[in-house]
Amino acid sequence: MNVIDSKPYEMLIGGRWQAGREGRFFDTLNPATAKRLAQVHQAETTDVDTAVLAAHSAFENGWRRTTPAERGRLLKRLAVLFERDREKLAWIEALNVGKPITHSLESLKAMPSSLEYFAGMVPAVRGETIAVGNSDVLNYTIREPLGVCALIMPWNYPMTLTINKLGPALAAGNTIVLKPSEVTPLSTLALARLFEEAGFPPGVVNVVNGPGATVGEQLVTHPLVSRVSFTGGTATGARILASTASDVKRVTLELGGKSPLIVFDDAALDKAVAVAAGDIIKNSGQVCIACTRLLVHETIHDDFIDRLQQRLQAVRVGLPEAADTEMGPLVSAAQKQRVEHYIQLATEEGAKPISLGNLSLDDTIASGFFVSPTLLLQSRGQMQSAQDEIFGPVQSVIRFTDEDDALRIANHSRYGLAAVVFTRDGGRALRMARGLESGSVAINTGVRTSFDAPFGGYKRSGIGKERGLEAIYENTQLKNVKYDMSV
Ligand code: NAD
Repeated sequence: MNVIDSKPYEMLIGGRWQAGREGRFFDTLNPATAKRLAQVHQAETTDVDTAVLAAHSAFENGWRRTTPAERGRLLKRLAVLFERDREKLAWIEALNVGKPITHSLESLKAMPSSLEYFAGMVPAVRGETIAVGNSDVLNYTIREPLGVCALIMPWNYPMTLTINKLGPALAAGNTIVLKPSEVTPLSTLALARLFEEAGFPPGVVNVVNGPGATVGEQLVTHPLVSRVSFTGGTATGARILASTASDVKRVTLELGGKSPLIVFDDAALDKAVAVAAGDIIKNSGQVCIACTRLLVHETIHDDFIDRLQQRLQAVRVGLPEAADTEMGPLVSAAQKQRVEHYIQLATEEGAKPISLGNLSLDDTIASGFFVSPTLLLQSRGQMQSAQDEIFGPVQSVIRFTDEDDALRIANHSRYGLAAVVFTRDGGRALRMARGLESGSVAINTGVRTSFDAPFGGYKRSGIGKERGLEAIYENTQLKNVKYDMSV
């Protein structure tokens, strides 16, 4: 399927597709070959300004007054168009991110339902009446949109993350300026072509391209942007928090993680092995909720690791477009270097890295950004390699002795995005769920985010929640009104 445009990808500003003001482009690569996949037009200062002004004018001059039914109808139409183009969008994302096509197709399956869900959430943008002390006073609340929202996206799941941000933002009556990652912008730009066809008025959704330090920074600090929803690394999130602080903007941050997977001695071992392996195979471990600290009870440690090694040894690493590929390359040369650096660091710290999988680099992919799935055996919780987010197919394996020990090791992290516990003891499972410092906990299954359940991290994994009903609250502000009926 030929899904990539040969001419440079333009930006969507005020309902028009256009080049950057100064005609500059940048390249985006195919990570499996390290070759250029496409060129992308880059925004300049005036382009970002025009996009925000277009979003602001669309908000003030109509979108904020659309009826809930109208917003719901447009989102449902977008869901239909997305389903029509899903296969093409999945191919674009597979080629640009390097994820296997099978995984790309699977990850986009729920997106039409996500758009329908947020279309159905439109009635949740409502207030309530409150019985206050004085019966002459009518006291009520109104839930109002915030205005222009800047959505800043990472490179690992461009489309699912974008849909789950823009669905609730639009449902709540906001307008949007979206900046995809400069590393993987293509699927988002293809998605943006559907907005006009769905019938969204010009300016309600705008997309600008370019680096975070210039285009992203200008966007989040623009005085007409009221809300920033950011998904990406913790350091970038902290910078955005600081640069938006003086304007006291509403900021939602979905950041990094180093999630624990805890396997007790009474666990369903086959399933636990499948989840542990899946977390480093899927998207080559470039998943914020991937469990990359594997905590195994000492009495089952050797058996469990034997089984896990067997599974990882059989992983088919290869080209994203091959139907039997389970794991593709990493997204970039920088990401590959980062992962290799951490494997080296783990060795220096006393861990025993072991590389698995059947990676054989033939001529087609020899220069691609491939790394084998790797277990860091004999790790300890306090090692830097077990503390930093590596964002690759690498798992630190740590032994524990009992429940308290597991909880102590799991919580010894600056992150708190997700955690998985495998045990058949119900009381223990619930004690662990209570004790884990984590925004999501999964018991006897993997953590999988869904559009209808709230998601967001503890500690340095983020601020605020997205998805579910909470996403509507995150995208609105609440006004309290008091009316004295005795006058
Ligand atoms: P990143 O922080 O490098 O970049 C994310 C986005 O921020 C990009 O679009 C980038 O251009 C932009 N950006 C960079 N500097 C900026 C600035 N000063 N102002 C405004 N925008 C700026 O992240 P990445 O490398 O693209 O993605 C990987 C990270 O994302 C990992 O840490 C991963 O855990 C995290 N992530 C988190 C979640 C989640 O939901 N919690 C989901 C996916 C990825």
